[in-house]
Amino acid sequence: MRRQKSTDLHRLSAALLVCTTWHLFVAGSVYAARPKVPASRPDVSVPGRIGIPAGDLRIVLQNVERGLRVASLLDTGTGQELLAAEPLPLFSVVLRDTQTKELLTLTADSGWKQALAAYSETRNRHTLTFGNPTDDRFAGIGVELTLDVDTVAGALIWDMKIANENPQWALWHVVFPQVALRDLGEGAKVFAQVTSGVELSTMWAKADKRGGTYPGGWTAMQYMAAYNPVRGTGLYLGMHDPWGSTKDIFAQGWPDKQAVALTFDHPVPNMGKPGVGFELPGVARWQLLRGDWFDAAMIYRNWVVNDAKWWPSLGPDGREDTPKWMRELPAWVMTGGPASDCVPKVKAFAQAIALPTGFHWYNWHEIPFDNDYPHYFPVKDGFSEGVAELKAAGVYPMPYINGRLWDLHDKGAEDWEFTKTARPAATKDEDGSPCTESYGSKETDGNSVTLAVMCPTTSLWQNQVRDIVLRLFNDYGVSGVYIDQIAAAAPRLCFDASHGHDLGGGPWWTEGYWKMLDAIRAAKPADRMLTTECNAEPYIKWLDGYLTWHWQNQDMVPAFSAVYGGAVQMFGRAYRSGPTQDLANRMKAGQQLVYGEQIGWFGPEILDRADSAPFVRDCIALRYQLREYFYRGRMARPPRFATPAPTVTADWQWSNEWLVTTDAVLTGAWWIPQDNKTLLLLANVSDTPFTSRLSLNPKDYTFSGKPIAASVVHPDGTRTPLALDAIDQANVEIPARSIVAWEIQSADR
Ligand SMILES: [Zn+2]
Repeated sequence: MRRQKSTDLHRLSAALLVCTTWHLFVAGSVYAARPKVPASRPDVSVPGRIGIPAGDLRIVLQNVERGLRVASLLDTGTGQELLAAEPLPLFSVVLRDTQTKELLTLTADSGWKQALAAYSETRNRHTLTFGNPTDDRFAGIGVELTLDVDTVAGALIWDMKIANENPQWALWHVVFPQVALRDLGEGAKVFAQVTSGVELSTMWAKADKRGGTYPGGWTAMQYMAAYNPVRGTGLYLGMHDPWGSTKDIFAQGWPDKQAVALTFDHPVPNMGKPGVGFELPGVARWQLLRGDWFDAAMIYRNWVVNDAKWWPSLGPDGREDTPKWMRELPAWVMTGGPASDCVPKVKAFAQAIALPTGFHWYNWHEIPFDNDYPHYFPVKDGFSEGVAELKAAGVYPMPYINGRLWDLHDKGAEDWEFTKTARPAATKDEDGSPCTESYGSKETDGNSVTLAVMCPTTSLWQNQVRDIVLRLFNDYGVSGVYIDQIAAAAPRLCFDASHGHDLGGGPWWTEGYWKMLDAIRAAKPADRMLTTECNAEPYIKWLDGYLTWHWQNQDMVPAFSAVYGGAVQMFGRAYRSGPTQDLANRMKAGQQLVYGEQIGWFGPEILDRADSAPFVRDCIALRYQLREYFYRGRMARPPRFATPAPTVTADWQWSNEWLVTTDAVLTGAWWIPQDNKTLLLLANVSDTPFTSRLSLNPKDYTFSGKPIAASVVHPDGTRTPLALDAIDQANVEIPARSIVAWEIQSADR
C-alpha cells in the first residue's frame, strides 16, 4: 500500500508542478531511505488535497485558487471532525504601509500566486511555502510554514517564518496559529485563559470572547483547548514560546457558525519597520485531546518543565531558592497604615491561629497610595520597630511597592523628577509620548494622578526598583517585598528606540524584568523573598510568590496550579464584604485550599466572624499540616463524586455584585511522587452534609494497584487510620462546613 501511495504521490506531484497557482512536491519519497521515526507521509489520493496523519489526528490541507487552507482536522479514533464548517485561514499577516499607516491583511487561503506543499521523508517534515503575492504592492513578502508530526501524541508541530524584502509594506501583526473548532456536542467545553483558567460550556452558543494580552494576570499561560470528555475527543492548541513574548490569546464563540475560534496574535518585533521579517517564537502545537482541562494542563506542563525559560530549579523540597518559611506559610493577612494601627491587630491574628502568618503591609510609606511613586521613603513612624515586633511574634512582614509606575507629578502636584530623570526610561507610544495609566488616586490639586509605565529594559528603572527593595531588606529588615503589577499587567508595546529593544512586539519585556529581578535576587539576603501581583507565568523563576487575589471567576479550574503547583507559592485571594460574605469566605478559603494556595489575604478581623471564621481556620490549619504537598509536591487530577454535589452561590464582590456559583463540595488532589503519597481534599463549604462515592481512576494517582495505608488528617494535626478496600470507589461523608483530608500512602510504585 505504501509503495502504491508513493507512486501516486510522485505522479501527482509531477502533474502539479506545472500548475502555477499551487504546487505539491514530495522530496525524496521515492529514493530516500525509510526514516526510523514513523513517517507522516501525506495522502494525496484526492486531487488537490493532502492528508497528513499524526497518530489519530489527521489534517487535510486543500489547495484553493490563491492559497492553501485546512479542510479537515479529524480524530480518526472517534470519527469526530474537529474543524468548523467554515475554517479560519491557517495564518493572517497584517501589513502596514510605512508611509500612510494603512493596514491590509494577507491570509494563507488567498492572495498568493504560489502556494507549495512539500514533504521531506528524510526529515519527516512538511513545508508549506507561500510566495508571489497576487497584489503587486506586496512583492517580496513570503511565508514558510513547517509542520512536524508527533505520531505518538497525535500532534502537529508548526513553525513559521516570514520574509519581507518589501520597502513599503511592513509586518505589523501575525495571527498564528488560529483554528475554528466545531461544536463537539453535548458536554463539550472550551478551556480559555482567564486567571487560573476557565472551563466554559457555553462558547458555541454565545458570542463570548475570553482571553487578552499575554503575559498578564488574566491571560497567564499560552494554551487553550476545546474538548468533549464524554466522547473522548478534542484539540489542545498551544504556543510553546519559551521566552513568553507578547501576544494576544483569545477564545471566541461564533454561534451563527456553531464554531469557537482559538487565536494567537503576535505583534511583530520591530513592527512597522520595512524589510523586517518574522519568526514564530517557539512552536505552535495542535494535539488531539482525549480528556479535559487537566489533561490539557499536563500537555502544557510537560513542555514548560522541559523548555520554558521561567521554569525554576526544583529540589526534593521544591523551590530551594525560596526561604522555607515562605514555602510553609499557611495564612496571610492584609492591612496597613502606621505600625501603631496595624501591628497589634496582625499580632493578635497570628497569636489566635498560633501559626506562622504572612502580612502584606500597605501604606507603610508617607506618600499616598498610587501617588508620588516611586518615592516610597521616608517610612511612617514606627515602621522599623513594627517590623521587628511582628517578626518576633512569628509574623513575616512584606511591604507593598509598585514595580511599574512613576507619577508624572511625583512630589504633590509638582513634576519633580519625572521629566528630569524618569521620562527617558518610560515606555513610549509610537508618537513618542509616555504610556500612562490612572487608578482613581488624586493629586493634591484634585486632578487624577497620572502614572507613566516604566520600561523594564532600562537600567534606570531596573536600578530604581532594586534600590528600593534592597533598602527595605537591609535598612528595615522586612521578610519579603511585594512588587506590584509585574505578573499582572500585560506588556506595553514600547516604541522608544533609545531603549535598545525591538520596537513593539517580542520577548524583550519579560527579559527586562528577568534582568531586574536577577540583580535583586543576587543581592538580597537568602532568608527573604519576593512576590508580585497575579500569575503571568514567565516570571516564576524570579519570584517566590504570586498573589492570586484576582482568582474570582465563575467556571474557574485550577489549571495554573496543575501546571505550576510546587514551582511558585500562591497566596492571597481578595476577601470582600456583602450580604453573603460568610458563604463567600468559605467558598474562597475552600477553593484556595484545594487549589494549593496559602489561605488569605483578609483583614485580621475575619476571625471575629462567628459564621465563617471556624471554616477559614480549619483551612489554615490543614494548609499548615499538609504544607509539604503544596511546596514539594504537585497537583493531581481533582477527584469527582459518583453523584454530583449540589451547588452554592454567593456574592464574591470582586467588582460590585459578583455572583459566583461553585460545587458545594470543592475537591482537590496533590501528590508527592518521590514519597508515593497522595492527598485528597474534599471541602464542603455549604450548610448541608454531603454523602457520595468517589469516582476516580487510581492510575491518576500514586496508589495504582498497590497496597495502601490511608489516614484522615485533622486540622489539629492528628491522624486517624482509614480502612479502605477500594479507594476509587470509597464512600465518603462530608459534614457541613468541614474538610475531609485523606492521605494515602502507597507501599511502592
Ligand atoms: Zn522601552
